[in-house]
Amino acid sequence: MFVESKYQNKLKRYDINSYPAHVCKTSIPRLHMASSRSSSLTEMHRTRFINKIDKESLERGDHIYAYRKGGLYSHHGIFIGEDRVIHFVRTNEGNTSRRVEPCQKCGVDKNHLRGVVKSCVDCFLNGHSLRRYRYSASHRRFATNLGGTCTTGDADPPDVTISRAEDLFNTKDFGDYDLLKNNCETFAVFCKTGKHYYRKPI
Ligand SMILES: [Zn+2]
Repeated sequence: MFVESKYQNKLKRYDINSYPAHVCKTSIPRLHMASSRSSSLTEMHRTRFINKIDKESLERGDHIYAYRKGGLYSHHGIFIGEDRVIHFVRTNEGNTSRRVEPCQKCGVDKNHLRGVVKSCVDCFLNGHSLRRYRYSASHRRFATNLGGTCTTGDADPPDVTISRAEDLFNTKDFGDYDLLKNNCETFAVFCKTGKHYYRKPI
C-alpha cells in the first residue's frame, strides 16, 4: 500500500535537482516562453492538434491534459474510469470573482477546489479539448514536441497508476502546490511512473 513515508522517501530518492529529466519539458516553461507574444502565439498554433483525443478513446490510467487560457498553460490529471479524473490543483479552478454552483455530475465545488481532487471529466476539461500525454516517446519526438506533452520515460501499468492516484487522493499527501517543482503535471507523471521530477525553466 502506498503510504506517506513511502512517498516522502520517493521524493528524497528522486531529488528534484539531480533527477535526470527524462520527462519532456513541463508545462511551466510555457509560461516563461510566453514572455514573447509572437513566440507564444506560434506555440499555441503548433499545440492545437497535438495529442488530441475523443472521450470515447479514453482508457483507465491515462494521463490526460487540457490547455487553459488559450494555451498559455495546461492542466494534467489521471483518468481512473467511470468519468472520473484525479488531479492536483492549486486553488480554485473556476473564476474566483463569481460563485459557481457545485457540479451536478460529480458534486465538485469549484469554489473550494484545492490539492488532490477527484472530478468528472467535464469539470477537469473546463470546456477545453481532451489530450493524452505520451509515454515512451522516441527521442526524436521528445526533441521536437513542445513542453508538457510527452516523455521518453515508460509508464507503469494502469492499475498501478490508478492505485497511486487513489492513494494520493485519499491521503491528500502530495505536498504543497509549487508552480515549478510540484504541480499538476509532476503529479500525473508521478502517478504514471512513480518518479518525481523537476526541470528548471528554460
Ligand atoms: Zn463535475
